[in-house]
Amino acid sequence: MIAGLAKDVPPLHSIGGGVVAVWPKVKRQSTKRCSSWRKRQSTTLPVSALLHSSQNGALLAPACIGLLVGTRKQPAKCRKHRVLCRAQKDQGKSGDDSVYKDTVLLPATDFSQRANAKKREPELQDFWNEKKIYEQLQEMEHPNGSFTLHDGPPYANGSLHMGHALNKILKDIINKFKAATGHEIKFIPGWDCHGLPIELKVLQSLKSKDKKGLTPLKLRQQAAKFAQETVKEQRASFQRYGVWGDFESPYLTLLPKYEAAQLRIFEEMVRGGHIYRGRKPVYWSPSTRTALAEAELEYPEDHVSPSIYAAFKCTQLPDGFSGFENLELAVWTTTPWTIPANRAVAVNPELTYSIVKAVWTESERTPRHLVVASGLVERLQDLLKATLTVEKECAGGELEGIKYEHPITGVETPLVMGGDYITTESGTGLVHTAPGHGADDYLVGQKYGLEVAAPVDNAGNFTEEVGLESLVGANVLKDANSKVTDLLEEKNLLLLRKPYSHKYPYDWRSKKPVITRATPQWFASIDGLRSSVLKAMDEVQFIPESYANRMRPMVEGRSDWCISRQRSWGVPIPAFYRKDTGEPLLNTDVISHVREIIEERGSNAWFELSIAELLPEQYRDSADEYERGTDTMDVWFDSGSSWAYVEGELGSPVDLYLEGQDQHRGWFQSSLITSVAVNGRAPYKSVMTHGFCVDENGRKMSKSIGNVIDPRTIIEGGKNQKLEPARGADVLRFWVASVGFASDVSISLGILKSTEENVRRLRNRARFILGNIHDFDVATEGIPYEDLPVIDQCIIRRAENVFDQMKEAYDAYSFSVATKLLDRFTSVDLSSLYLDLAKDRLYTSGKTSHSRRSCQTVLRWILVNMTKAIAPVLCHLAEDIWQFLPPGEKEESVFLAGWCKPFPKSGEVGARVQDMDNILQLRDPVNQALERARGNKMIGSPLDAQVKIMVKSDSDLYNALEQMAKVEHQSVDGLNWLLSVSQAHYEAVDALPELPNESDESASSEDKDLGVVVIVARAAGTKCERCWVHTTNVGDCKEHPTICLRCADVVQEMGVPSPLETVDSA
Ligand SMILES: [Zn+2]
Repeated sequence: MIAGLAKDVPPLHSIGGGVVAVWPKVKRQSTKRCSSWRKRQSTTLPVSALLHSSQNGALLAPACIGLLVGTRKQPAKCRKHRVLCRAQKDQGKSGDDSVYKDTVLLPATDFSQRANAKKREPELQDFWNEKKIYEQLQEMEHPNGSFTLHDGPPYANGSLHMGHALNKILKDIINKFKAATGHEIKFIPGWDCHGLPIELKVLQSLKSKDKKGLTPLKLRQQAAKFAQETVKEQRASFQRYGVWGDFESPYLTLLPKYEAAQLRIFEEMVRGGHIYRGRKPVYWSPSTRTALAEAELEYPEDHVSPSIYAAFKCTQLPDGFSGFENLELAVWTTTPWTIPANRAVAVNPELTYSIVKAVWTESERTPRHLVVASGLVERLQDLLKATLTVEKECAGGELEGIKYEHPITGVETPLVMGGDYITTESGTGLVHTAPGHGADDYLVGQKYGLEVAAPVDNAGNFTEEVGLESLVGANVLKDANSKVTDLLEEKNLLLLRKPYSHKYPYDWRSKKPVITRATPQWFASIDGLRSSVLKAMDEVQFIPESYANRMRPMVEGRSDWCISRQRSWGVPIPAFYRKDTGEPLLNTDVISHVREIIEERGSNAWFELSIAELLPEQYRDSADEYERGTDTMDVWFDSGSSWAYVEGELGSPVDLYLEGQDQHRGWFQSSLITSVAVNGRAPYKSVMTHGFCVDENGRKMSKSIGNVIDPRTIIEGGKNQKLEPARGADVLRFWVASVGFASDVSISLGILKSTEENVRRLRNRARFILGNIHDFDVATEGIPYEDLPVIDQCIIRRAENVFDQMKEAYDAYSFSVATKLLDRFTSVDLSSLYLDLAKDRLYTSGKTSHSRRSCQTVLRWILVNMTKAIAPVLCHLAEDIWQFLPPGEKEESVFLAGWCKPFPKSGEVGARVQDMDNILQLRDPVNQALERARGNKMIGSPLDAQVKIMVKSDSDLYNALEQMAKVEHQSVDGLNWLLSVSQAHYEAVDALPELPNESDESASSEDKDLGVVVIVARAAGTKCERCWVHTTNVGDCKEHPTICLRCADVVQEMGVPSPLETVDSA
């Protein structure tokens, strides 16, 4: 249906066949028989369609009254009209039809009522491609300079989900808006193509016989192919969203030129002394002698570890612990073999700890004093089969300062403060800490500067570093556990052996357990960069501001960045190692040489060429002494280097990075670190953050819950088209714009449905306007501002305000505010007010009359600007509207037309426009009174009514009414037209009267703030058959006795013959 009608208000006009198609259904009215032929045939018509006969007051059908007026003495001819009436009834237009139906200027447009997005959106996209609109935009003048948004690369691993859609559409809205407001935009989409997940997909797709002969090079070729195919698929999806950019030349992290840019950053960081080789725990599979990633692990059900409870003897106690000289720290571990690598015991400073006296009654063990978490005392009592008596309680923090004797080496070792990972769910609440064998342990170790000891070789055997001759060579997955445990028992440090069944990681290929083991890795030193990174962050604008402090604590607390991975699919770390000593060779000469090779041949060259070819001149003679490294770079180093690749085209720093909130830990941060390391500043001026997509209950989308919504289904429709119809990309885009994206955003079928409804409403409002300006050429028939009726100037002023506010909202990236502003303007100011008033002059005035042309001038201007204002979001709808704009000045595409422009020469707001604003406030109380009158069945439509306004003489409103009564275009600005009734009068009063009692004759309302009482009565005179307005001059025109003089002028000018002639000649 066409928008623009206030709800529940029947149309002003329902003459003519076309009406039925475009107007809302008229509410069922009460009906009566036409008096002139009730004796002959029982036919009923709506009351509003009947007229009172001026002769006898009988209710007559309009056609019949015409007959009676013209052939008063020959009522028999009524038969002719009976035929007419019956024909109308047969067409389902009971009584609404009229001989004047073709004289009413109804909306006409080919612009489709339905979006039909599945077919139409691709057509519009083809249009953009054919006309090269994105390219044309770049060639235009850019009065506001350039705006650079650098795309964060999605991972080329599978189909796009809602998060991708949200992200890329937000970027596109910004780009389209910036382009419209005179900025040069250049958007280079990117993809992250290296890394383990892709490597794994390739491995999974291989048959076992192919896996056997798999070299790094073969695997890389397959991975590259997979990544490129995924990029292709994702690219098509992004383009289907209507996203614009250099999709033909995106940046891919696997491009040789990209790899070279990345290596240049690495080279600079080596030059700056930011890269070093250190040790860090990784999952290590002794069975396959390789490091593994989390994704390569399995956790079988039946693993049992030989867990032990042990006691470490304190050697130093803080103040307040006197009397506990023989205190011991009770610890628990499921991996006794890690005890030699123990470098601390950690407690949680937030937990409460107890010093207990343990007494064994059933055995001859000597009592001992142990420190345990208070929450575990009871449980330990049961486990140890001892009586534990609490002798002192203290907070974890108070234990700081305790030192103990290392159970294997005897070295004095500290107690340290750990984190939340220490709980009272199991163990003792004190955690044996071996930084070389655990991730949490490693982090605590970094904080306290503990040694990263890992005295275990590739096969899982203890090395000499284990510190005890008898342990060297023991295998940590076999005899090492019992050997260590026996040692503790010998030293009387063992409290309990207890097999423990839990989830433990296994190698997914060998099906054998893995260990955590520190191995040599390459690191980027954060310590050296931290203060510069934090300083660079100060210069960055965070949007929304609430995210300003998200990244800071992460950088403050960040340990060094491990940038090496033991994988094949990535950019190689161009390091060589001496065959004899393992000593690495990595310097700027080496990197620079390798970088040039890779820039030309891609990083496969690292695996293809000989060592001699890869080494620079000065090392070539000793090439035999080196082997190439097999580590590749962390993919965060890949994507964190993207600024260097796009620098040439986008410049640096760019204006904006825009990603999900997880990128404060990821891409925002890695990009910042590499850029600060090389350039000493951030790669971006501002960083914008959006939340995650969740369902309407705030839950993450997951297949198991079944709440996943696929962007492709939104656009193309799902299996069940009734439940999930094809809604098109615009609905997806409108959803993106209308959610407050700073926090998590909800989506569900219900939300989508109402979003679609909003888009449809906008479409239909636009369609209504298109239909009404189809015969109008603004260049030759437009009316200048100063000649417009006041109501037109008033709506222009309101629209200009809205477009300005929308621009402000877009500028602030508040797209939800922008869409709400537009929705409110089109519903309230446009649909319920202006279009409601406009229909009378659009349909019933003379085709080229001033009142109609002025309205068309305004409507065209509003539509053009409205279309521009929605184009960044609803790009397809906007272009669709644009292509249907009737002739007149217009650009080839809405995107070449720039942003909204003020109405030509609209200038200052005049006093009359303010008066109009005052008067329009009257519509509320008047509509209330009309509603009551309709409730009493006193009137059908507002045009059946006349209104009397009693207004306080000292009010602004009274002055406004007095002024408005003097303006030129009374046929538009007259009070009755502004109130949509047939007659309106006002009367000044000193004080507002009491409201009269409700009756069949009148209804009333009041508005004390406005200072008015409104009284509604039945309109005087007769209803005009053509315009439905009641006047006393219906019948004054002899040739057209059933219509008002205003209409008579119009139809005579149109050369419409008198209906009487038809009747007479019959
Ligand atoms: Zn009329």
